[in-house]
Amino acid sequence: MISSALAFEQSCFRDEAAAYVFVESLVWPSGPVCPRCGEADLIQSIRPNPAKRVRYGLKNCVPCNRQFTVRQGMIFENSKLPLTTWLKAIFLALADADRVNTAELREALGVTSVTARLVAKRLELATADHGLDTLAPLTAERCC
Ligand SMILES: [Zn+2]
Repeated sequence: MISSALAFEQSCFRDEAAAYVFVESLVWPSGPVCPRCGEADLIQSIRPNPAKRVRYGLKNCVPCNRQFTVRQGMIFENSKLPLTTWLKAIFLALADADRVNTAELREALGVTSVTARLVAKRLELATADHGLDTLAPLTAERCC
């Protein structure tokens, strides 16, 4: 687990903007798609501005006038954890083969036990049918 954490720290997942670009490239290989109406052409990217609480990866669908990010509909949805933390959890889970250890996640992510259990539960639910290989495209080797 420690060597995995070190490998992660050297990856491009340290930066929240890079994490969004990476996940968006996997989820939307041809560009963003509105999760509500399916629009793909009239999508505006909104520039992130932490001072004004404008999130990374925020998009606006012109036809339905709704904002969304790549997190919607994924295990990251409605979570306050940064996307980099989620990617780190996935990276560590993949490095640890077939199981997600809550105690190790808590220590490696620097989160509370409750948060670590939530992350582990979501990872387990997301991989229930096909195992952790479902998350394999999210490994560090493919992000840079
Ligand atoms: Zn839409």
